[in-house]
Amino acid sequence: MSVIVEKLTKRFSAGGTPAVSDVSFQAPPGAITTLLGPSGAGKSTLLRAIAGLETPDEGRILIDGVDCTDLPVQKRGVGVVFQSYALFRHMTVRENIAFGLNVRRMSRVDVNARVDEMLKLIQLEELGRRTPSQLSGGQRQRVAFARALAIRPKVLLLDEPFGALDTRVREELREWLQELHELTGVTTILVTHDQEEALEISQHVVIMSEGRVAQAGSPEDIYNSPATPFVASFVGGTSILKGHVREGRAEVGSLVVAAPHSAREGEAVQAFVRPHDIKLARSLHGHGGASTGRVERLKPVGGYVKVLLKLPSGDSVTVEVPRKEFDELGVVEGDSVHADVRAARVFVGD
Ligand code: ADP
Repeated sequence: MSVIVEKLTKRFSAGGTPAVSDVSFQAPPGAITTLLGPSGAGKSTLLRAIAGLETPDEGRILIDGVDCTDLPVQKRGVGVVFQSYALFRHMTVRENIAFGLNVRRMSRVDVNARVDEMLKLIQLEELGRRTPSQLSGGQRQRVAFARALAIRPKVLLLDEPFGALDTRVREELREWLQELHELTGVTTILVTHDQEEALEISQHVVIMSEGRVAQAGSPEDIYNSPATPFVASFVGGTSILKGHVREGRAEVGSLVVAAPHSAREGEAVQAFVRPHDIKLARSLHGHGGASTGRVERLKPVGGYVKVLLKLPSGDSVTVEVPRKEFDELGVVEGDSVHADVRAARVFVGD
């Protein structure tokens, strides 16, 4: 059951900037597709339009080949999970899961069987009689998934479903969602602003920026071949340095990297440098092609330290240094260090 969005535009005010602007993409059947982008990119609006919770101004939505653009939510065969637990507080877990089935007037025997099946699927068989207030945040979100899946939707639509949970639970639930998806095989569209989440759990990624699709493809495509500087910096934390070809090498700022074969002397180039592709050192010794930068800011993040380096050209690059290497390096803010670019994608042109 694929989802096809064609030239969809949604404005919230007449004549205003559209929240979603002429967006087309396909969510392949049986896959997890993520809509990834910064806050305000139009991801939720697009998902809500697919769900039938927003009416598009232009464009079409096809679910499993059927034009659903004008169908009400209940007729689209979609299950939706939001960030905040939209569970009914006065109902038990069983009653919550049964809700959509009762609305569809399924028989009591069938409802009970389906609820049992769903409780087993989310591994909360013992907790059916509890109310949402007696569950942890992660358990509540699992119940929200069971409720969305109980109606056997053609498509599962997830709007930042783990966004309100703490990091550890969020990571657990990411794994859990992948297992759940393997069991159900339901076509899924997930909204997230977290690139790690998107690259980890989806087979197809649609990157959004300012209401438009910036790039769509597999996680590998997006990571290895970013189509635009925006995608490169949003997905890979990439720094973009501008420079010129000199003596067969690309000089970008004060750094020297390999130039593409096609590049001619003096031609402008842009180098996309990933945070772990620069090696810092206190001395030049043994680091050919290294150059000097000033440590502007140090930001410890778990097992590594993010070093913001200012180059003499005025450009800044972010370097990620594993904690152990960082301790050995022993630099503080304001120090000068040598930066050796080990890998960069260099493009000819401005
Ligand atoms: P994202 O999910 O990527 O953070 P949204 O789809 O929520 O982005 O929002 C896209 C744009 O549409 C934003 O500028 C937001 O302020 C605007 N917007 C979203 N919902 C509404 C609404 N109900 N009324 C007016 N503007 C809205």
